[in-house]
Amino acid sequence: MNDIKLALLGSPGAGKSAVLVRFLTRRFIGEYASNASLYHKRLSIDGRQLNLEVFDPCSQGSEARCILEEPVDWADGFVVVYNISDRTSFINAKNLLRQIRETRVDNCKETEVPVCLVGNKQDLCHVRQVREDEGRCLAQENRCRFQEVSAAESYQDIANLFTHLIRQVMEH
Ligand code: GDP
Repeated sequence: MNDIKLALLGSPGAGKSAVLVRFLTRRFIGEYASNASLYHKRLSIDGRQLNLEVFDPCSQGSEARCILEEPVDWADGFVVVYNISDRTSFINAKNLLRQIRETRVDNCKETEVPVCLVGNKQDLCHVRQVREDEGRCLAQENRCRFQEVSAAESYQDIANLFTHLIRQVMEH
């Protein structure tokens, strides 16, 4: 059994818990507990049995740096989430991507740790503050995958991004 550890990072309210709960349960609940949580799921990808652990840090009132310290050391891969209708969350995502790189380098770990950048709340595109090409561009700069999703409206894009990230971690 392979153990895979992922961490979700992003501004409070970007939709980290919503994205994760959508992946784990296929459901969108609407409101989520704000405490830090470690989620477990057994799944099978490409015929391999996996034990997935996902850390969803407590985001309320925390600064990016303080959200980061523990999960950056712990995780094998990251999902960095911003809200397409909130530019501040995009700027925070940019900082988080930089901090992931720096922390991994500082600790002499692999620089190319698998990361996926996620622009959530695609259903709010009528109040969009971040263009899709800005997200794509940021991901290219950081050599990571990019996906816009709506945790509120769809499961498949979210399932695809987690599956892709898990495959990357397995190959890493
Ligand atoms: P977190 O603090 O990053 O974990 O964010 P939450 O998952 O708690 O979500 C914050 C708020 O955004 C909640 O009220 C969610 O219902 C809402 N939300 C999350 N994802 C979406 C989405 O895709 N679309 C819309 N319209 N709202 C969302």
